[in-house]
Amino acid sequence: MKPVCVLGNGQLGRMLRQAGEPLGISVYPIGIDATPEAVPYQNSVITAEIERWSETALTRELAIHNSFVNRDIFPRLADRLAQKQLIDQLGLPTAPWQLLANAAEWPQVFSTLGELAIVKRRVGGYDGRGQWRLRPGQQHALPTDAYGECIVEQGINFCGEVSLVGARGHDGQSVFYPLTHNLHEDGILRTSVALPQPNPAPQQQAEQMLAAIMNALNYVGVMAMECFIVGKQLLINELAPRVHNSGHWTQNGASISQFELHLRAILSLPLPKPVVNTPAVMVNLIGTAVNHQWLALPLVHLHWYKKEVRAGRKVGHLNLNDPDAVALRQALQKLASLLPTEYQSSLAWAQQKLA
Ligand code: ATP
Ligand code: MG
Ligand code: MG
Repeated sequence: MKPVCVLGNGQLGRMLRQAGEPLGISVYPIGIDATPEAVPYQNSVITAEIERWSETALTRELAIHNSFVNRDIFPRLADRLAQKQLIDQLGLPTAPWQLLANAAEWPQVFSTLGELAIVKRRVGGYDGRGQWRLRPGQQHALPTDAYGECIVEQGINFCGEVSLVGARGHDGQSVFYPLTHNLHEDGILRTSVALPQPNPAPQQQAEQMLAAIMNALNYVGVMAMECFIVGKQLLINELAPRVHNSGHWTQNGASISQFELHLRAILSLPLPKPVVNTPAVMVNLIGTAVNHQWLALPLVHLHWYKKEVRAGRKVGHLNLNDPDAVALRQALQKLASLLPTEYQSSLAWAQQKLA
């Protein structure tokens, strides 16, 4: 089996490497310190864990290599302008938007998009960074360098957020997990819940949309599509051409994790539909030190990224799943007493999703 080089060496690269191990697949996450001698890159399949990676001689070489799967798709999806254009071209629903070229456009922006404008940097934003929520009169909060570098979207009054994680193989066939329900606070994902029997109508709508996108791009590997739920319809928020935080529950809640699924897809290994038999919950650990008391709860799987703990930084996650939703809710209740106050509302949300 060919080795896999991953552009980026954050937690997603780490979890791809972990997923490769039982299959005998060597995975090399490539960070800023990686040297060409230490990496068998000439003979590898190349993938990425993020849309933008640190520029070094090695990463420049990998980024143009013929073995970089989806090489020409990354720059397209990494720019929100090109990503939104693609969604529009395919006729798929998304929050109304436009390029924000200069400050003179504001009256027209508010009259076209409405009272709440969400400005997003075209490149480099994540976890809600590089975004501004602006109402008429608040435009001055936007730095002048944002013009031309941002899109502006209509603020959507959604009743929930979901994401679909799927994978497409070299043969053009795709498989999907059940929709994941996501709770974001201040632009950052706090908690996800997936149910083995998702609501059929949105599941079908989401699968059709993501399949249309992956097919149009001739994409290979795992892709995530984040959506807003508005009434009975899904509106696409954004796409991620990679494994995704909202798919972390699959490490313990599915027969094949999203990380293994991605490796299988890019290496042309069999890609059966992952089996999901139990409800699953994922709790992001954000700026919180590790507490081994979590492990006293039998349903808790700890995934710790070994990163320095800083406020607002994702440093790990907890996965819990069980066929008995009542047992799962009770475990979340006990977990709540072992986590700081800022976790309480998202844990209560997860318990309510399982009810
Ligand atoms: P990620 O870490 O998921 O890549 P990101 O920084 O790329 O995040 P988005 O997914 O665009 O940011 O937005 C983060 C969150 O902000 C969304 O999940 C949603 O809760 C809120 N949000 C974004 N766009 C809108 C919108 N148009 N209307 C209402 N809320 C929005
Ligand atoms: Mg994003
Ligand atoms: Mg997002």
